[in-house]
Amino acid sequence: MRIAFLGLGIMGRPMASNLVKAGHEVSVWNRSARQHIDGARTAVSPADAARDAELVWMCVADTAAVERLVFADDGIEQSLREGMVIADSSTISPSATLRFAQRVAENGVQWIDAPVTGSKIGAENGQLIFIVGGPAETVQAMDPLFKAMGKTVIHVGETGKGQSAKICMNLQIAMIYEGFAEGLTLARKLGVAPEKMVELVQASMIRSGVVDYKAPFVLRRDYSPNFPLRLMHKDIHLLLDTAKEARVKLPALETVEEIYELSSEEGWDDLDFAATIQLLEKWAGLGGQSK
Ligand code: NAP
Repeated sequence: MRIAFLGLGIMGRPMASNLVKAGHEVSVWNRSARQHIDGARTAVSPADAARDAELVWMCVADTAAVERLVFADDGIEQSLREGMVIADSSTISPSATLRFAQRVAENGVQWIDAPVTGSKIGAENGQLIFIVGGPAETVQAMDPLFKAMGKTVIHVGETGKGQSAKICMNLQIAMIYEGFAEGLTLARKLGVAPEKMVELVQASMIRSGVVDYKAPFVLRRDYSPNFPLRLMHKDIHLLLDTAKEARVKLPALETVEEIYELSSEEGWDDLDFAATIQLLEKWAGLGGQSK
């Protein structure tokens, strides 16, 4: 299949590579022109990447980046043809997704929101989970592409529902991690070895995938970005905005947002979101610097 892949960051680069490895004809574009992928054509603009494509896949930072890719003067809107599909694996606003989908539908183009979970390791190993919104027939037809990059497809419902489910999932990731970080910090202050605390957590009913992924990094104080703090912070803002639109109150998340705000002021935006534990350690007088 002829696929344009736009956005070659932590997630997009291995995803595009996996499409090339699966035998697809891929053209790629990234905002900073340094990016190239073996076996793929490097395009000069989103419109150029999409020119001959049957399907355009995007994985960029946020709502504004997706809007730029699609609707800027050199955006893929210039290359849309009836029957094309746009798949978006960025995590962006559900309501903006609906607006974008309606606009491209005027050209006979379907929008599939397909945000992912699995982080850097899942993207590199082709083990992502896709959280999908869009018409069932199109989602089914895309199965070989999902399987080239991931292990599981959860079709949540119509367009926009993938983004809605994804941000609600990230709400829980942020909160579970915050609970882990606060528990670990207090345990350390009380003289409990962090390794013992992790052993206990993982042996008990509070065992979690978030801790599975993050604990080895936290114990090594390695906060190199798998999921950068700035992107989780972006998702927390998406959640608070979306909750406001839906008239839902999220008091615990509002408090966690303050932790991210202060972590951002510390200059940790490009570290992993696990680095937020350093703020708790600092307040507890425990010190602890990232590598
Ligand atoms: P990343 O490494 O920061 O990459 C972001 C990508 O977006 C880069 O290609 C960047 O281009 C591009 N970009 C940013 N602003 C842009 C703009 N205004 N116009 C055009 N391109 C722009 O992020 P990532 O970790 O790959 O995440 C990508 C998406 O997946 C995000 O929505 C994130 O929330 C989501 N996600 C990430 C993870 C994870 O664990 N990393 C897991 C699940 C979902 P440059 O290279 O030019 O900066």
